[in-house]
This record gives sequence, structure tokens and C-alpha cells, in this order.
Amino acid sequence: MYFLVIAIIFILILAHLRFNIFGKTQSGLRILMYHKISKDKNDKLTVSQKLFDKQMSYIKKSGYNIIDFDDLQDILTNKKQMPPNPLIITFDDGYKNNLEYAVQILEKYGFKYTIFVVAEYIGKFNYWDEGVEPLMNFDELKIILSKNGKIGLHSLTHRNFKDMTSAEFENDISETINIFKKNALEFSNVIAYPYGALPQNANLKNEFKKILEKYGILFGLKIKSKINKIPFEDNYKLTRLNIKGTDSFFEFKIKIQKGKTKLF
Ligand SMILES: [Zn+2]
Repeated sequence: MYFLVIAIIFILILAHLRFNIFGKTQSGLRILMYHKISKDKNDKLTVSQKLFDKQMSYIKKSGYNIIDFDDLQDILTNKKQMPPNPLIITFDDGYKNNLEYAVQILEKYGFKYTIFVVAEYIGKFNYWDEGVEPLMNFDELKIILSKNGKIGLHSLTHRNFKDMTSAEFENDISETINIFKKNALEFSNVIAYPYGALPQNANLKNEFKKILEKYGILFGLKIKSKINKIPFEDNYKLTRLNIKGTDSFFEFKIKIQKGKTKLF
């Protein structure tokens, strides 16, 4: 009997360390990060259509209010009330498969979303990675805009900002905006940092934030298993939950509720 109690306690401790089962459901702004959506494949960067549908259905049923960064800008600048349980859905890189497989599901639930595109590679391939995955062209991105989606910045060529000088960073931002404007592509004032990274150096980081401010970019997104507390500590360090196709549905739910699924 005594042994059984010890064994159960031990199992619960392990389950907590691995899945954060006793962690509190956090309040704040949840921002989800997806990459590719596929017909039937799941991997670290890819969620299958079927699993994506199940995840969106869960979000709908759980009573989250889906907003986008234009709403967030409106709420903060006009001092409006944030809706309860706000959640933002994002996709990085601008893959064609988002239009093919995700948009119809997002439309079914009436969800808004933001796609972060790599300006120089619009209509090309993901050259910073394996280089074979097609990216949406301008016409396709305009279809996204007509289907409740928004476009955000994700750098010029997917270079890591942490290795850039201020001059290189400013060039990256201004060229990105030039490409959007030249092609009459509307965009929201938000950037997803490639690899979620900014420079380590605090002075340089501050200079980068000033450059973003100068170009009217109001929000910057990192990657971290964390729900954003409201009011935000820093609009340029908002965190996103990385949703992987390899997560079980149980892990997905824990991630949405509590931010992190692993304590170590
Ligand atoms: Zn990316």
C-alpha cells in the first residue's frame, strides 16, 4: 500500500515535469506560430490539414477571441478594451501551402490570421532552408488579404538579425517596405524576427527597436513558450508559442492553456 502511494506520487511528479499538468492556466495574449500546413504530413515545421482543423476547432470551442495586429494597434493606441482571452494566429515564411490548406479552415471558423513573408523571396522558394518549398507570389498574398488574412514583415532574405549591424538592419527593413509598396501589398505594422532573434547586445537591440519605430513598425515577435502578460512589458519582445506537427493533441492543449508543456 505504502509502496503504491509512493509510486503514484512519483508518476504524478514525472507527469508534471514533462507535461506541466498542475501548472496554472495563464491569462494574457496568446500568439500561435505555424509554418507549413500540408495535406497529410506532420513534422516539426508542418501541421497536417486534419490536425490543424482539430486545433482550430478546439480554440473556437474554448472561447478564445481571435484578433490580429491591426486590432491590437487599435486597442493600444485608442485605449480600447482588450477582448477576454485574446489569441492571435500567425504563419511564418508565406508558404503556398497556407493558401492551399489553411485558409479554408480559418474561413470556416471565421478566424483572422497574419502571414509573415520574406520580401525578396515572394513568389520564389525558401532558399534559406532546403529551397524547394514554394512561397506565395504577390497575387496570392492579395488573395490572403481578401480572405481575412494580414501580411507582416519577416525580413528581406531571412538572414538572422542577431548578426547584423544597425545599418544592415535599417536597410533590411526599408527595402522590405519598399518591395511591399512597389507591389501595392498592404501590410500590418508588425515584424516576426527570423529565428525569433535580435542581437544579444543591449545597445544594439535598442538601436534596432528605434529603427523599427522610425519605420512605423509597432510590434516585434520572438519565439518562446510563454503567454504575453497584459499590459506588455515590451511591444518588440512579444512571444509566440511554436505549434509543431509533432506535438500530440494533449501537448497542444497544454501549450495553449499554460504556455509551456515542459518544465525542463
Ligand atoms: Zn521564418
